[in-house]
Amino acid sequence: MYKEIPNEAWVYAMTIPEALSKTQINDFKDIYKNFDKEKFFLEAKKMKILPNVAHLLCYLDCDTENWTEVHNIYEIRNKKIVVFLNKLFTKLNNVGMNKVCLAENFGTLLSTNSCIGCFSSGDVDLYCDELNLDLLDNIMSEFGFVWSDRHTRVKSFAKEYKSTDVIGEEFWINFQWKPMTRKKTHLYDQRFILKRYKSSFDDVILYKNTSIRMFNPTMALYFNCIHISSGHYYILSPGIRLYADVDRLIRKCDIDWEKFNKMIDDDNIGIRSDVVLHLSKKFLLTDVPKNAYSENYSKVKTTKFINSLVTFNPLIFHFPKRKKIKFILFLVRVELQSDCTNVVRSLLRRFWVLLIDWN
Ligand SMILES: [Zn+2]
Repeated sequence: MYKEIPNEAWVYAMTIPEALSKTQINDFKDIYKNFDKEKFFLEAKKMKILPNVAHLLCYLDCDTENWTEVHNIYEIRNKKIVVFLNKLFTKLNNVGMNKVCLAENFGTLLSTNSCIGCFSSGDVDLYCDELNLDLLDNIMSEFGFVWSDRHTRVKSFAKEYKSTDVIGEEFWINFQWKPMTRKKTHLYDQRFILKRYKSSFDDVILYKNTSIRMFNPTMALYFNCIHISSGHYYILSPGIRLYADVDRLIRKCDIDWEKFNKMIDDDNIGIRSDVVLHLSKKFLLTDVPKNAYSENYSKVKTTKFINSLVTFNPLIFHFPKRKKIKFILFLVRVELQSDCTNVVRSLLRRFWVLLIDWN
């Protein structure tokens, strides 16, 4: 009855299994029955959510033996990453680099104590301050990593190192010393966020009995919101995986919402976090409390385009080109609602750069 595996299946796989309703579980089982294991395997792998799919199928006792085997591979792989990170953080401590924190995807996985197998990205991100950056090349080469100019656009705020030693395949450690992920994202006032970023290393937590430093959950949620909005423009790849992080932080950790709300207010990122929280709630039924949103939320939730994002493709792995203009207009609107003067300033800056580059 299904020609292709519907998006719902993947959304269910990215939800915490315990949070799925009976109807959703039946729905998922029904979809699964319609396809052979191989198709599920290949498509989930292509979307880089294979361990999550395997996890759910084990949980639902569907071909458990087969999917446990798949999930185990990731468990072993990811435990190797933890062992490596522990060594790396110990080394960084020894050279006095203690303003470093595990962030974003793997940071969320560890800080929410989620299933260690449910991670398949080949990238782990660390946030750090700008001091001692010159030490990084030597430290990373001791661990068999080499610096690589993978994305020229991140050069001004991040360094990316790769190695095949840790997990037997290409694996990246990215150090980032500014809270943004795309060079062209000038459309917000960086000063507030940079100030927040610098002070965020003072209040961190350690992962279990290791030296791995992580942000406290409230701060982690704040950074995830910035990262999703300014680094991935809400819906770019890896799509739903970004929202699974937000969902897990909210479901599994104690978020200090009063503090969160004050931070987004003070730093003028309310609209952005509103959009992220709104989409997380729509995609993964995240229980976002009312006081999590800024006072502008009423504008966000009535935006037609944002609600169409939810209905046309909750996974957003394939963003249709015909929607591109609408999407850009939506982004501009979000920015204008957040900070009008900054939009103008940034457009002028772009214009100026264009002018002096003219030859
Ligand atoms: Zn798992």
